[in-house]
Amino acid sequence: MLTRLTRRLSTTLNLETQLAILAEEIASVVPFDCMNYRHQIAAREFVYATGMGGPHRCDYRLNLEGSFYGTLSLSRRQKFSEQELEGIELMLAAAICPIRNACQFITIEQAALTDCLTGVPNKRAMDEALARACCLGDRHGEDYSLILCDLDHFKAVNDQHGHVVGDHILKLAAVELERAVRNSDSVYRFGGEEFAILLPHTDETCARAVADRIREFISTISVNCGDTDVSVTTSCGVAQRLADESADQWLARADEALYRAKDHGRNCTRIFAAIGN
Ligand code: GH3
Ligand code: MG
Ligand code: MG
Repeated sequence: MLTRLTRRLSTTLNLETQLAILAEEIASVVPFDCMNYRHQIAAREFVYATGMGGPHRCDYRLNLEGSFYGTLSLSRRQKFSEQELEGIELMLAAAICPIRNACQFITIEQAALTDCLTGVPNKRAMDEALARACCLGDRHGEDYSLILCDLDHFKAVNDQHGHVVGDHILKLAAVELERAVRNSDSVYRFGGEEFAILLPHTDETCARAVADRIREFISTISVNCGDTDVSVTTSCGVAQRLADESADQWLARADEALYRAKDHGRNCTRIFAAIGN
């Protein structure tokens, strides 16, 4: 039974799948009503839960070689016997190595999708999200809008105040962007001083209002550099996704709108309107 568990767990690096296998294998020897696993991985709370809990519970902290890989608890209506607890512990001991690998895989996957300066998702994450939005948009006919933000004259900020100040402003810009949008919207850093915001269930009129709020929030950034306070503005380009439009075409229209905003004198928003261009 332990060999089967280890063999099955070694077939996947997906933590959710591993926990489903573990739950199934434990249940085949020790019946339970509910299994609950929790772990903070890469700044996110990973939770896996099956069934409804009972009053009797056994809790385990999964540790391997000094590192912590989450808490796991089983509960049911009847008390667990000593023999059953021993069985569970043997199975957890066999599962801990694969679980560690799956946790590390999530960490690496997250790192590959995160911009290391600002902590927001990067271009790779944005490409995946845009492709997903195109599929969902076509299938359900939902509105999606995209805002591209490019900080104005940012080269001059670096040239006059140095890269450290520039980097600090980029971090503050990411914070302001996340503050300016709803939880359902996502912010990406897809270039040096360029950010994108993907807005589900949002048409171009609402997206414009968000873009204007973003500009307002960005304009509140102020970094004291001795004798001067450095502030920045941003230009925004908005495009609502058209039916059957590819991610590249959609992005190109938002980029064109951004270009028009720059051309219009910066610190403003332009829409590549669905009709009338
Ligand atoms: P525009 O208003 O036309 O966008 O002018 P700009 O100066 O912002 O645009 P340009 O494309 O000429 O320069 C972008 C600058 O952004 C170049 C570089 O100094 C700065 N930049 C890009 N990535 C980073 C970064 O990671 N850190 C810092 N500090 N600066 C960066
Ligand atoms: Mg730029
Ligand atoms: Mg710029």
